[in-house]
Amino acid sequence: MSTARPSKIVPRRGDEHAMPVARRASNPRNRTTKTEGSHRDWIANQPCVLCELLGCTQSSKTDVHHVRDGQGVAQRASDYLAIPLCHSGCHQGPLGIHGDRSLLRLAKASELDLLAAVVAQMASRLHATASR
Ligand SMILES: [Zn+2]
Ligand SMILES: [Zn+2]
Repeated sequence: MSTARPSKIVPRRGDEHAMPVARRASNPRNRTTKTEGSHRDWIANQPCVLCELLGCTQSSKTDVHHVRDGQGVAQRASDYLAIPLCHSGCHQGPLGIHGDRSLLRLAKASELDLLAAVVAQMASRLHATASR
């Protein structure tokens, strides 16, 4: 006669959830959040950042240019990496960012410098609002 009862393996509570399937959003880079979308709209309404740097007068509408444009086609660049550039000059113009980029050289700036200028503009607005 045995006193040892066959031990029943009882799954601890919650074990069935011990290995949660990671909920992976399809590809976060391909989703545009609402905030990201309105940031993009805001960018589209800004004056050309390169014209401003060069002291030029913007002569065409503002395009939204993504800093990583043309580097990887598979991944859409985040709208937070977008900068405002005038369409027929600094953006798609022959001297523009998608042209021979001589306007960038003239401004002695990289695309990241332009992005920094946009962020700086946003930051100054933000901090001005915050201290009001
Ligand atoms: Zn421009
Ligand atoms: Zn572009």
